[in-house]
This record gives sequence, structure tokens and C-alpha cells, in this order.
Amino acid sequence: MINCCQFSWNTSVEMACNKENWSDNAEIKIFQEYLKIRTDHPDVDYAPCVEFLLQQADSLGLVSKVYYPDSPSRPIPVLTWPGTSPELPSIMLNSHMDVVAVTEKYWSHPPFAAEIDGEGRIFARGSQDMKSVGMQYLGAIRALKHDGIRLKRTIHVVFTPDEEIGGFNGIAKFVPTSDFAALNIGFCIDEGMASPTDEFPIFYGERFVWSILFRCRGSTGHASLFHKNTAIEKIQFLMNKFLNFRKSEEQRLENNPNLTVGDVTSVNITTINGGIQQNVVPPEIMMSVDVRMSVNIDYEQFDRDINDWCKQAGDGIEIQFIQKLQRIEPTKLDDNNKYWLAFKKVLVNDLQLKIKPQILPAATDSRHLREINVPVIGFSPMNNTPVLLHEHDEFIKASTYLEGITIYKKLLLELANL
Ligand code: ZN
Repeated sequence: MINCCQFSWNTSVEMACNKENWSDNAEIKIFQEYLKIRTDHPDVDYAPCVEFLLQQADSLGLVSKVYYPDSPSRPIPVLTWPGTSPELPSIMLNSHMDVVAVTEKYWSHPPFAAEIDGEGRIFARGSQDMKSVGMQYLGAIRALKHDGIRLKRTIHVVFTPDEEIGGFNGIAKFVPTSDFAALNIGFCIDEGMASPTDEFPIFYGERFVWSILFRCRGSTGHASLFHKNTAIEKIQFLMNKFLNFRKSEEQRLENNPNLTVGDVTSVNITTINGGIQQNVVPPEIMMSVDVRMSVNIDYEQFDRDINDWCKQAGDGIEIQFIQKLQRIEPTKLDDNNKYWLAFKKVLVNDLQLKIKPQILPAATDSRHLREINVPVIGFSPMNNTPVLLHEHDEFIKASTYLEGITIYKKLLLELANL
């Protein structure tokens, strides 16, 4: 945690240090307003959210434009602060507008009321993932503008739809357009995750989903006999192969304290269906397997392994990939990446924060940007915070939220002046 009082250049943040009533804080009020706009799946109506963001752009004196690379129901508002050297590659601040669904009965506070409790915790869906980050970007720009600062590089604050359902009709459709190319993005900051310790996780890559459905056929007949070549024996063989691989990856993670879950390949058998009656040997069994592919595994070899396992298990096995994401090269965090060096300087040298670069275990919009070689760092400034994305009672502390604004302010000063 940084001491927010040390930053005299953010009045709102500074004032908050002495206040118990967080809802009087201007930044917290804007954040609460954004959290109250429902963008939960399914069938999200983005119109009220876009209207709010365009009002924010006006109040900040930002240029705004809404793009529709998919359809009018999938808007991408972009709020732009032109730099003094607009010919330089720009800085993109990405966040998604949508949030995952809630099961309201399990929440101790209503999930779209953004209530603040006595400990300063703001409860709402999206308070961590990731309406916080979207508003913190704007809070940082507000603080910079308040100080009369102009930055060299142009900043584009991009708000995307449908990230929570893969981003296929959101960022994925925007990235290949000439409109996107015209933004001339040099570097992007996107979402990360909360951290229950002092450390801030920094994400430079992601794992990729392989969702596989196996359909196993075998001999059927009376359940009192020993039939050969049954579907269940084939499924057992496949299960053993997957579970042995799972065990070895789990052990690799447990035996090496330098690894995080993003460094290994996870495997989970998620559904098994089959059988028609208690005394009939099932003619068919279906099994689905969720694999999250590490960036370090050989994708072609693993594909061959799966096919070999099926052949060894016997005939009559069909493999269907529900999802098979391609490996995308992670962002390189080395001395040739000037954005990374600036990012690290601000967090480690200037703010004396502990960081841990790692691979994100799940998928985000970032992969679509990395695919076209935009360097992306995933970062949500929430340390000493339980990881509550997609959970009941998702919250962020008001103090953590405001400290995040000060971190982004410092980051923008450095990154956009490179
Ligand atoms: Zn998210």
C-alpha cells in the first residue's frame, strides 16, 4: 500500500485521507455512478453506459468517438487526450464495460447499488473486474489536467463490450480495422487481478483455452455380460491420460515456488454424460475436458498426444474442439521494451511497490492486441485485496481505488512522456 497523502497533486485523493464519509469524494461518486449502470450478461444494453462515458469525456475535455465494428449494439467508445507530439505512437488504456452475471440472493449488499460499508468497502459487480480500472484511468487524467499538465503522447481510453464472452464481437472485430490502425497504438495497459498480499501482479501474457469434447462409442448389450470394446473402458483410458498429465503439471507447480498457475497447463474433466438404462451397457459416453494451455507447452505436440491417446484407447472416438485458441506470443519484458522499463521505474523505483511479473491464468481482451504485436501489460492496482472477480460480494476498498488513481497518474506521466 502506498500512502496516498504523499501525493499532493491529487486533491480528491488527498482529501479522502482525512474523511470517513467516502461518498463525499468526487472520484468515488463518479465510480459509484458507473457501477450502478447495469452491463451484466446476458443481453447487455450498452447505450446507457456509453452515454455516461461520453458525458465523462465532455467533463474532462476529451475527444470522443464511438466505433461499431460489429453492430450498433456493440459500441466501442474511445476517449482521446491528444498529446503535444501526436505523431508519436499512442498509449492505449483498455477496459471492458461488461460484467458477469450475479446471483443476487448470495450478495450481502445489492450488486448494482455500489454501497459503501463502515470499512470503506464498495460492493458491486464490476468493482474489481473491471469498472474500477476504467474509472481510475479517467481519474488519473482528471488529476493530470487539474495540475495543468500536457503529455507528449496521445492517450486513448478504450471501452470494450463483450469481453466476458470472449471479446469476439468487441475488441477482436475492432483490432483489424483501419479505424484501429489510425489510433497508432504503441503500448497498452489492460486488466490484471487483485492480490491478497503486498505484491502487485503484472501480467505479460495469458494461457489459451482448449475446450475438447470426446464422443466415445462402444459395444452395448446386457449389463450381466463381459462385452469387449466398451465405451466406458475407452473413456477410462482417456481419463487416466488426462489426469496423469494434470497430476504432473500440478506437482510441477507445487515443487517450484517461482511458478504461478499461469506457468503450467491446467486440465479439468468438466462433464461426463452417457448411458440409457441401469441394466444396459452404454453405447456412447461423452466427456468434455477444459485445458488451459501454458505459453511454454508445445501446442502441436500436445495436439498429437491427444490424437495418439484416442487411437490407443480404441476405435470409435471422435474429437471435437469447442474452443482451440492459438498460442500468442507474450509481451517481452526486457531492456528493449522501453514501455516496460518506464512502467517498472514508476512502480518499483518511484513508488517502491513490490511487483511480480507473471502469466494470467485466464483470457482477456489483451490477447487480441498481442496478436497484432501491440505490447500489453495487464495491471489492476489492487494489492491487499481478496481476489473476488466473478464472485459474490465483489468489492474494492475506497482507499485502494483512490491509491490506484495516483499510480495511474504516475504511470501516464512517465509512459506518455517517453
Ligand atoms: Zn475483466
